[in-house]
Amino acid sequence: MFSKLLTQMLPFFPKALVHKIARFYIAGDSAQDAVDLAYKLKKNGFLATIDMLGENIIHKGDANLAVTGYRKLMNLMLHSGIERNISIKLSQLGIRIDKDSAWRNLLKVLEKAVSHNFFVRIDMEDSTITDDTLELYTRAHKIWPRVGTVLQARLKRTRSDARMLAAKNTNFRLCKGIYPEYSDIAFTDFNEIRQSYLHVLEILLDRGSFVALATHDLPMLEAAEAIIENKTYDNACYEYQALLGVPFMHELGQRRDQGKKVRLYLPYGQDWYAYGIRRLKENPQMAKAIAKGLFKNRKYERALFSTR
Ligand code: FAD
Repeated sequence: MFSKLLTQMLPFFPKALVHKIARFYIAGDSAQDAVDLAYKLKKNGFLATIDMLGENIIHKGDANLAVTGYRKLMNLMLHSGIERNISIKLSQLGIRIDKDSAWRNLLKVLEKAVSHNFFVRIDMEDSTITDDTLELYTRAHKIWPRVGTVLQARLKRTRSDARMLAAKNTNFRLCKGIYPEYSDIAFTDFNEIRQSYLHVLEILLDRGSFVALATHDLPMLEAAEAIIENKTYDNACYEYQALLGVPFMHELGQRRDQGKKVRLYLPYGQDWYAYGIRRLKENPQMAKAIAKGLFKNRKYERALFSTR
């Protein structure tokens, strides 16, 4: 109860305090920081997808800046030795202002992706833009097959979306979904969300899609692995994905050691606030730590985010 209350109060906390803790989830301020981290991860057998922070822009000029930022990031990645894989949000390209201009912005990113063989993941945001996101994803995928998007197990519509979209040469990240949604359109029970996740996974794999298992929920991940094993799906049809900063590296390391593909989501940039707040809200230890003022204690800070 107390923990929930504190979590709800997070947006009212001083920005400096939020930054102090949110920074664990973020690769750094610059694209170079993210590329450097991706390179270090590569040396340790992990893959990365890089995301330039920013979302829900309200001025078209900011969408243009986002396009320029992404194209600069892609230039930097070209000769860095890391895999060419980026994640992007359509609300950062202006989809909430005007779908057509967001599409034109996406095309500018795709142009570079096509000429330099980048994989582009379109992140999924809240349900008010699910239809538009899936529409632009579908159009983009026709132009460049190395575009993927995200399906959220929390949404009741997702099974039918998966049935409609899944096919050979498609690539979906499957997650629970971070955005709070009303119960008429979303499952709110923890176990129902897990069941939905596993059901959608089967739909995608049965139809030949590649699936990125994006979760830190170990029991659910093990259930997903059992499905993959029982149905003898090919190992090449899935990978693991996790968010930078979530204490899940031990579990991921085990899978890497078994020769599995493991990818970390690396956000970078100055526009960390909305992303940081979402991450802090889902960290079960965070509220307690803030309440106790434990962030004055560097040892505790490190322990909270270290690998298990
Ligand atoms: P949970 O039950 O929430 O978490 C399992 C356990 O992981 C928890 O008990 C906790 O110990 C730990 N944990 C989870 N989150 C944190 C955290 N922030 N800090 C510390 N510990 C934590 N959602 C979208 O809606 N759209 C997207 O495009 C999207 N992209 C994603 C990309 C990746 C690579 C990942 C891993 C997640 C993404 N998500 C996205 C978020 C996702 O929907 C979930 O909100 C998030 O992964 C938490 O759910 P979970 O499956 O890990 O299960």
